[in-house]
Amino acid sequence: MYERYHIGTVVTVGRHRPVPKFIVRREGNCINCGKCERMCVYQAHRRDPVDPRKMAEPDSTLCKNCFRCVVECPQRALSIRVNDDFKALGNGVWTPVRITTMWGEAENAKIPVLGAGYRGLFSGPGFDAMWTDMSEIVRPTRDGIHGREFISTGVDIGRKPSLLRFDDDMRLLTEMGTIIDLPVPFMLDLSRLVVSENIMKGIAGAAKELGTLLVLPVGSIEKVSALMADDMLVPVLSKVDDLERVPKGVRLVEIEGGPDWKRDVNELKRSRPGMLVGVRMTSSPDLLTVANDMAREADVLHVLFAETGMGADGQYARDASRKLHRQLVAAGLRDQMTIVSSGGLAAAEMVPKSIICGADAVTLEGALKVALGCHACVECKDCPADVENAPEEFVRQRVINMCSAWRDQMLEMLGAMGIRDLRRLRGETGRAIFQEDAHRDAFSGIEGGEKVE
Ligand code: SF4
Ligand code: SF4
Repeated sequence: MYERYHIGTVVTVGRHRPVPKFIVRREGNCINCGKCERMCVYQAHRRDPVDPRKMAEPDSTLCKNCFRCVVECPQRALSIRVNDDFKALGNGVWTPVRITTMWGEAENAKIPVLGAGYRGLFSGPGFDAMWTDMSEIVRPTRDGIHGREFISTGVDIGRKPSLLRFDDDMRLLTEMGTIIDLPVPFMLDLSRLVVSENIMKGIAGAAKELGTLLVLPVGSIEKVSALMADDMLVPVLSKVDDLERVPKGVRLVEIEGGPDWKRDVNELKRSRPGMLVGVRMTSSPDLLTVANDMAREADVLHVLFAETGMGADGQYARDASRKLHRQLVAAGLRDQMTIVSSGGLAAAEMVPKSIICGADAVTLEGALKVALGCHACVECKDCPADVENAPEEFVRQRVINMCSAWRDQMLEMLGAMGIRDLRRLRGETGRAIFQEDAHRDAFSGIEGGEKVE
């Protein structure tokens, strides 16, 4: 029976006080008239509960920087400035706005509203120099996406035959290999995270609720085996012998791609016929030289980028993925292998952007920790959010909430693009605008304009 995909979200407040973007300050010349309390619709100003004759300290975490209280205060006693602690959040693509946005998504599972009054740049490194074509955004009704119309965010993992062959009685002759259907294009990935057992279990619980795969080191299987069915685990092996530790029901394993990757893949396939075998490789020019060969042997190529969003050669996923995808398309091999991309996915929009650039699916890593309150510091030391001690249920629900908000944003994006199946977005670079192309179209040939090759 048809069952609509549903993610069970529950508002889950963070364990630590949020880092506000703005600090509201009340000076000593305040006469406690209470006008600011009436002006602020976000209730950042309240009377002191102990002595209601006085105003309490403003609650900066509620302030939305509308400046109404500042303008209306008869004493000019209020001021607002950007919080230095906010500016210090994150690093690289993990910007303060992205981190606080993810905290909000993990708390209430809602689509964030961003951009009002934005006066900054509209471009940046990597995926920030890429915009999606929302030309179908003018729609007859807004209930289309979450209402009557069906939009699929599902993806398939495994080899897809490029054509089907039938005998004279229309019996299928083409041998179909294992295909894993996922309702969302992201798997949850613990393989490169150092986390406590509680976090592991919480993330396993989230993967179960989402109906997606959990990628984890083979040595961690026991910690989550009571929580998840074997067929939803993707153990990462460092050598072929590790297969002994993999339960029989597992449908996909990944092995670290060393010089003997081909021999390893074939040995794994021989040992467990029907099981999909993936190879993990850091993005680099070397990957391109073996990619065609890999498409003939392996079922999945898991391309690893750093949390900066870059590969070993400093190339962003946006560009490296496009090259890889185009090379495989040109060789007629693209559907022979699933491409999974990881690293630097610091916002919901980066998932469909990865897919537009050629990935079939992605794995979420750093975002899982940010959902728990992580500040994405350059170095993990004296954690201000005490992430390691997050309770299992808190972890589970915060990750579910964030993933639900990310899926909803994908539905909005697909609806606005007029695409009903996320699979159709793969490699569709024509549905995106790349900064260098826009720059070239606008400025090339203009005397004095910057020339972009
Ligand atoms: S409006 Fe100004 S003077 Fe009145 S209570 Fe608020 S800060 Fe004080
Ligand atoms: S700036 Fe606006 S949101 Fe912030 S405290 Fe003043 S009235 Fe409230």
